[in-house]
Amino acid sequence: MTFTDKTALVTGSTSGIGLAIATELARAGCNLALHGLESAADSREICDRIRDQFKVSICYFDTDVAKGGACRQMIERVRTDCGSLDILVNNAGIQHVAPVDQFPEERWDAILAVNLSAAFHCTAAALPGMRGSGYGRIINIASAHGLVASPNKSAYVAAKHGLIGLTKVTALETAGEGITCNAVCPGWVLTPLVEKQIQARTVRDGVSYEEATKALLFEKQPSGAFTKPADIGSLVVFLCTEAAANMTGASLPIDGGWTAR
Ligand code: NAD
Repeated sequence: MTFTDKTALVTGSTSGIGLAIATELARAGCNLALHGLESAADSREICDRIRDQFKVSICYFDTDVAKGGACRQMIERVRTDCGSLDILVNNAGIQHVAPVDQFPEERWDAILAVNLSAAFHCTAAALPGMRGSGYGRIINIASAHGLVASPNKSAYVAAKHGLIGLTKVTALETAGEGITCNAVCPGWVLTPLVEKQIQARTVRDGVSYEEATKALLFEKQPSGAFTKPADIGSLVVFLCTEAAANMTGASLPIDGGWTAR
């Protein structure tokens, strides 16, 4: 399957997993709508690097996906500025760690907005165009925390479980239309989002960065190794192929055995 006539929007693609997914899609020849909170000027280096390396078209959007109306406008602009929207990867995410009874209300609202509601708004706005072309791939980057829980992550776990529910409903509503919707559920991946949690452990437990990293990994991830961002990108590319045309509504762990326990 050739991706050269396809455009993918990857939310939160200026960093971490989203950047790796965008890179793997570009490697497969897909044109990109990159997205993040940085200004267009600050994201220029990333856009230029991917465009030069893979000879694909790149648009960039700095929409705050915490706002539903802005998400829907962004989808319209991807269609007009980039020509089409064939692949939607709902990846932007944030985290906050605190017990339920001390969880700041404002953090709860923000995590639900970015990690769950943004995917709803982007999906709702993207579906009519995908139905029109008879091809669509929606990939929601959930988490092992979409399948199992951990203490102190109430908003994140609730949002990611919700995202898997949204994935299943979207899959059912689009079945047989050339559109699939799946969730990818990574375990620990070493990105800025996880770096912050390792740093917090060094302070909390009075240990070195290496010790905190080892403890974080072995507590949850039997393989003892981080999942590589590029490997998540490769899984996303596979989900966009014809070989995956009949895979829909699935939640796919890539978590070193975390959720096998
Ligand atoms: P990251 O912090 O490196 O990247 C997050 C991206 O989201 C950035 O590009 C940021 O600009 C964007 N973003 C955040 N808030 C936004 C907002 N309001 N509007 C627009 N963009 C916004 O994080 P990451 O680790 O690469 O995480 C990416 C996704 O993978 C998230 O959904 C996260 O929950 C999920 N995930 C991460 C891990 C992990 O171990 N890192 C594990 C499982 C799932």
